[in-house]
Amino acid sequence: MRDGTQAGLANYAMAVAKSLGRRFPEQPHPYRNEYERDRDRIVHSRAFRRLENKTQVFTRRYSDHFRNRLTHTLEVAQISRTVAKALHLNTDLVEALALVHDVGHPPFGHAGESELDRLMMRQGDRFDHNLHALRIVEQFEQKYIGFPGLNLTFEVREGIVKHSRDYDSEHYPDLKEYRLDERPPLEAQLIDVADEIAYDCADLDDGYEAKLLTLAQIRDGVPLFGRLLRPVERKHPQAAEKLKFNEALKQLMDCLVTDLVEATRERLKQMRIRSVDQVRAAAPRLVGPSPRMSRENQMLKTFLRDNLYTHRQIYAERKKIVRCIAQMFEFYMSHPRSLPPFYVAKTRKEPTHRVVCDYIAGMTDNYLMDQHRKHVVRRIASDGKTPC
Ligand code: MG
Repeated sequence: MRDGTQAGLANYAMAVAKSLGRRFPEQPHPYRNEYERDRDRIVHSRAFRRLENKTQVFTRRYSDHFRNRLTHTLEVAQISRTVAKALHLNTDLVEALALVHDVGHPPFGHAGESELDRLMMRQGDRFDHNLHALRIVEQFEQKYIGFPGLNLTFEVREGIVKHSRDYDSEHYPDLKEYRLDERPPLEAQLIDVADEIAYDCADLDDGYEAKLLTLAQIRDGVPLFGRLLRPVERKHPQAAEKLKFNEALKQLMDCLVTDLVEATRERLKQMRIRSVDQVRAAAPRLVGPSPRMSRENQMLKTFLRDNLYTHRQIYAERKKIVRCIAQMFEFYMSHPRSLPPFYVAKTRKEPTHRVVCDYIAGMTDNYLMDQHRKHVVRRIASDGKTPC
């Protein structure tokens, strides 16, 4: 269905007919609604394709079958659609939001993000991947003849900004149009929680596959996983360890998703939420796990932090990546003319550090390393210093 009477939508779902529309008005499409068109523009963007070569947690040096940011994004879209369908939310909007949610991430995952933020803080500024994603879809994608960026609907742009955190209008006056004193629609709230479920489960999976985590370690360190594994081991004592692990992990994801659906449904019922306006006006975010599952999930997160994210192999790699990003930032700050013409032109209107940050944040892992070899390694080598 193409209009606000989309079949089966709950009254608290964001109907496309109530969209605040696009910055540059466009004719409706004969058989795709506006959120479906947004989804298609996102899939056809360069920033989306670059996700394939951006690290989630593990770089390609471990294996080609580990998650990258593109496969992670597809997992988030899949989980989000399942939850949205069960809650009768707008699956078209949810899909567009899930597919775009990570386009603002810089190369090399969290290490790249925190290093760019540190470098920007030294310039009295910040790097924020949500705001970078907004700049990508508003400015950097140069694809259409009639407008800059992707000209996405208000709700998708609002979701890009607000899906994972709140911004106050005092510190972010430029974001005023995004109704900062209101919560975003449920479709946007869902993305952050689906994102967490996706990466928590995926990181366990890839960590085990990389042999950085053992089954015994996960069973003992993540109580919920341990409780799910025991019956699997009793029922299939002869099965290969990896298959037992897979079965428990599958059940873990199912538990997290089912709890999210049930707890959110119950919360909406208890608070008598019957419209998007009520969602927007509610003080807390309404999509989330039950308190019990929240505690279980916290134990899983603590386990991943203590045993995987700070693992010496991941940490050693992180140190190297951070140094490369810092050297590239320093290089472009002192040689802004080495930026591509589009970014050189931007330095006339915006501070150089912001333009340099935007350029580096848009790079894939491979491109960053290529540029590093080209601009930094050769210079350092010719000076007789040790490159990173
Ligand atoms: Mg994500």
